[in-house]
Amino acid sequence: MKFQHIKRTWTSPFYVNIKKHYCPDCHSLLSKTKVSKIVNSKSPEAKEYDFSSAGGEGYMFGDVKFIWTEFKCPSCGKQISISDMKKIERHIRKVGPRFKKLNAIDETVTLLEEILKEIDSECENEKSGIHSPWGLSQLEDFVRPEMEELLFYAKKGLIFYKYGEKQKMLASVYYMTDSLENLWSTRLGKKITQLKFY
Ligand SMILES: [Zn+2]
Repeated sequence: MKFQHIKRTWTSPFYVNIKKHYCPDCHSLLSKTKVSKIVNSKSPEAKEYDFSSAGGEGYMFGDVKFIWTEFKCPSCGKQISISDMKKIERHIRKVGPRFKKLNAIDETVTLLEEILKEIDSECENEKSGIHSPWGLSQLEDFVRPEMEELLFYAKKGLIFYKYGEKQKMLASVYYMTDSLENLWSTRLGKKITQLKFY
């Protein structure tokens, strides 16, 4: 596609070039990437772009190639705009970081794998007609996904706080607290309470 003008925008140079930013999904240090798009001044998306010319004295018409900088994660490939990154960091300041370094990696991975095995056996019980106080749908809907998520990050050496460090209670622990059954005394419940970080 041909274009008549080029507009390179540089927003927040200090924020982008000097400060360090981390991937919200995998906590890797983000790098910068150059992004471009050709937008026509009469197209519906034109309102999201600034067509004023570099000196600010006029407007550009026709097809304009916009070039700007975004963040990109070298590990998982996630790409984040500067304004979205600012929103993410504002949110983190409010709720606390989502990741912390995990020191006891092997122990935690083993414990989470044991928890997943206990979940399997509770599910087996329920399917073969033996009552599980945990309930099949709760196990499949949030206890198992939550533990799998923690295991995924534990293997990377990270403690994952889904809602931020300030609200670190696990959904599974909340469920135990709320249940009328005594889930704390089950093998699964005891194992979950051994996860000290949450
Ligand atoms: Zn990432």
